[in-house]
Amino acid sequence: MQYHESMIDLVGDTPLVKLNRVTEGLAPTVLAKVEYFNPGGSVKDRIALRMIEAAERSGELKPGGTIVEPTSGNTGVGLAMVAQQKGYKCVFVCPDKVSTDKINVLRAYGAEVVVCPTAVDPEHPDSYYNVSDRLVRETPGAWKPDQYSNPNNPLSHYESTGPELWQQTDGRITHFVAGVGTGGTISGTGRYLKEASDGRVKVIGADPEGSVYSGGSGRPYLIEGVGEDFWPTAYDASVADEIIAVSDKDAFQMTRRLAREEGLLVGGSCGMAVVAALRAAESLGPDDVVVVLLPDSGRGYLSKIFNDDWMADYGFLADEGSTGAVADVL
Ligand code: PMP
Repeated sequence: MQYHESMIDLVGDTPLVKLNRVTEGLAPTVLAKVEYFNPGGSVKDRIALRMIEAAERSGELKPGGTIVEPTSGNTGVGLAMVAQQKGYKCVFVCPDKVSTDKINVLRAYGAEVVVCPTAVDPEHPDSYYNVSDRLVRETPGAWKPDQYSNPNNPLSHYESTGPELWQQTDGRITHFVAGVGTGGTISGTGRYLKEASDGRVKVIGADPEGSVYSGGSGRPYLIEGVGEDFWPTAYDASVADEIIAVSDKDAFQMTRRLAREEGLLVGGSCGMAVVAALRAAESLGPDDVVVVLLPDSGRGYLSKIFNDDWMADYGFLADEGSTGAVADVL
């Protein structure tokens, strides 16, 4: 019989797929690491598993304990799935701007979701930050993973994503491109690849225009899951050789092309990372092997990026100029 003991065994070992159409006219081989093949549907399953197992070993998370994290996104899904399998409770805190679909995914795994008002100051007792801190203090057996500062976030990539890419490319990878959110993916994977290649592999970060990693002020943008308005400790600034800033419009148009031209229904941060990878590939040769990591699936963005009306409202449809409405609407 061929089977896995549990869904947890399916985390990692995701496939590499060559991009054939969006790369037309470019010399290098461009390969996508498709992270939606993880059981929770995103790259974040890797860090969820590593953070939880490290907390079990250190005794911070005890049998029957409760995981409390301010997240509504992919990290929440990864934590909820691993917690459910291991018998922990989960409480996620998220702002009220988060879509009900995302909240319902977390509840479907059995997690509790506390929704906080967006329109209050961070210092307000009902703010997203204060509510999660209070829940950690007041819940017996509570543990907060804190993906922004937890060293097991980058370590999970150093131990899984990096070695997988080195083996899958038979050591021929020359460039690694990833979006930067907490910075865990690029810092851990990039560090491994640099060490394995004696510094030969170049590491390129992709960042939304406006985010601090590419020198922005932290101004708003629409790409989800990437970019920051502060510098998290999970990000090791010494790893990336270059950071490429990508606009919302370019990222979302590429996201739509990936579905239509490559059969890859992926999220907006994936389109952003591919734009950066193709820009880097323009100056490279036929022996170069560029790997771009695609964090999640496009299913979570059907009413936005894959919705023509939504795209048109922002002026993101092909050949339309930006209306400049992004800042107003946000
Ligand atoms: N894309 C998406 C959709 C994400 O959820 C995340 C995680 N925040 C990232 C990219 C960036 O990954 P990292 O946090 O490892 O930098």
